[in-house]
Amino acid sequence: MLETRILSYSYDEYVGMVREFHGSEAPGVVIGGFMVDMAVRNLPEGILYDALCETRSCLPDAIQLLTPCTIGNGWLKIIHNGRFALTLYDKQSREGVRVFLDRGKVRYWPEIEAWYFKLKPGKEQSRESIAREIREAADSILSIRHVRVKSQIAEKRHKGGIAVCPECHEAYPVDDGEVCLACQGNALYV
Ligand code: ZN
Repeated sequence: MLETRILSYSYDEYVGMVREFHGSEAPGVVIGGFMVDMAVRNLPEGILYDALCETRSCLPDAIQLLTPCTIGNGWLKIIHNGRFALTLYDKQSREGVRVFLDRGKVRYWPEIEAWYFKLKPGKEQSRESIAREIREAADSILSIRHVRVKSQIAEKRHKGGIAVCPECHEAYPVDDGEVCLACQGNALYV
């Protein structure tokens, strides 16, 4: 039997990376590893790609662990619509692949299904049996589609000039208005 691998890592190596980076062996990040692996394997070799993630939970960490795309470098964009899916696409053509957790396939894995649909309260879920199913299921719970990302979604946000906010005296992008966004009423602190 072939060893389960996630890109260049063994399954156990990847799970170790997840624990260190994410703080626990979260099912979403481990499944995310198989998702990134499937997406990368289905992209043309050697292209420069960006990533689009449709949820803020878990999945962005798998992308940041396994690809050059991070939130900080701008190659990973999160458009939170709550779907457990990610897309890797060519920076130039915006063509790529979208990988998602397929509800029709998940139904054969009761523990994964219970986690995915939150069918059981967290403490009734057994971490071990979820982990066992994830490892066994590997990429059999995923589906992939070829997509082209809309240009408005893929476009980089160009920064205009920077000014000092007359109210808080901190630097902010002038495009945001007369005063910075925080001083326009989006206060973060009490
Ligand atoms: Zn301000």
